[in-house]
Amino acid sequence: VDASYQRIKEVDGQVKAFLTLNEEEARQQAAKLDEREATADEVLFGLPAGIKDNIVTNGLRTTCASQFLDNFTDPLYDATVMKKLDDAKSITIGKLNMDEFAMGSSNENSSYEATRNPWNTDHVPGGSSGGSAAAVASGQVLYALGSDTGGSIRQPAAFCGVVGLKPTYGRVSRFGLVAFASSLDQIGPLTRTVEDNARVLEVISGHDPMDSTSANVDVPKYTDALTGDVKGLKIAVPKEYLGEGVTEEVRDSILQALKKYEELGAEWEEVSLPHSKYAVATYYLLASSEASANLARFDGVRYGVRAEEAESMMDMFKLSRSQGFGEEVKRRIMLGTFALSSGYYDAYYKKAQKVRTLIKQDFDQVLEKYDVIMGPTTPTPAFKVGEKIADPLTMYANDILTIPVNLAGVPGISIPCGFSTEGLPIGLQIIGKHFDEGMVYRAAHAFE
Ligand code: GLN
Repeated sequence: VDASYQRIKEVDGQVKAFLTLNEEEARQQAAKLDEREATADEVLFGLPAGIKDNIVTNGLRTTCASQFLDNFTDPLYDATVMKKLDDAKSITIGKLNMDEFAMGSSNENSSYEATRNPWNTDHVPGGSSGGSAAAVASGQVLYALGSDTGGSIRQPAAFCGVVGLKPTYGRVSRFGLVAFASSLDQIGPLTRTVEDNARVLEVISGHDPMDSTSANVDVPKYTDALTGDVKGLKIAVPKEYLGEGVTEEVRDSILQALKKYEELGAEWEEVSLPHSKYAVATYYLLASSEASANLARFDGVRYGVRAEEAESMMDMFKLSRSQGFGEEVKRRIMLGTFALSSGYYDAYYKKAQKVRTLIKQDFDQVLEKYDVIMGPTTPTPAFKVGEKIADPLTMYANDILTIPVNLAGVPGISIPCGFSTEGLPIGLQIIGKHFDEGMVYRAAHAFE
């Protein structure tokens, strides 16, 4: 814990990963733990963690990087994942920066200062869990929690050269995760190594009666899967994942990685996920529709910032929302409200749901025959700050390789697999069957 705060002092002025620190409380907790040994269950005993700021932390400010929640300093409860970390005696160092309400791919939508990529601060760390990835990559915390609705753990993990896993939908409780798109959101760990990642997932997984979509499926000991043995592993490589838009450097790096898997005794074949090309459009309709409903709770009445100058109740709603939300959040709410409105519902929302099923079927069919799917996490390494922010569609297109995984609900990890000539990390994405995180970890670990 001392080392964490020391490191934050040294580097966070440039990286800007933290929004809120928990220093007094964390030091007290650490001092208490220093007096005794860990019990067998306390597997994260005294380990310093950073938490994405859309995960509710009892008594610790939770802003979702939004001006709307700037004054939400004293939440009254803990997210289920926080309770589980607490039982394992992990120590929360502070809350991490993100795109506002997890909408974005670069951290530039934070309504505070944007986090920078620790490898090169002219570049973005990715998003929306950019603070989580950057804090781990720059050694400020040992691990972090992020959330992934359309790539928000895996894409920043790839950009910052760390390991990030999006679990199977339903694996980790969403209770206390501020909802963006409830049918897609999952919390997951960002770490330096695959082993650390497996250890954290073991702690935060499991059925939770407080989340009706959390699955009642046994949580295996993921660390048992880390055998280093991938002989006979069957890998599918979708041709859509190495095609148009993917830079040569990224493609080469993935092909190099596949060669290594061959040397380790695995075999790979090219396959097709033919509906992948509709994933970005499908996602932005569905995620925005769900967001427009979820964000209706921010009305200036219950919590967050209230516009004071309003003269009527309707004005108060309108003004609070106009002042509290940033541009991208407003764009999503408008898009979602439009897609759900009567007369357009069948053409947009309902159709997108049907395409979502086709995308899921693509994955089911391939994963019937193969153990895992591999490809790049992102088409390019981290782009420059300011490069894409003016054009939302270019920004959205960056998520093309991560979004299908959320729509299908399957688990996916990003692990570092090389560097660009500019010295920026490149991520290998490994996707598995529903609730088969063990296989994903096994494959990922063998590569390290
Ligand atoms: N970049 C995507 C978006 O802006 C994904 C965000 C996420 O996974 N939270 O919606």
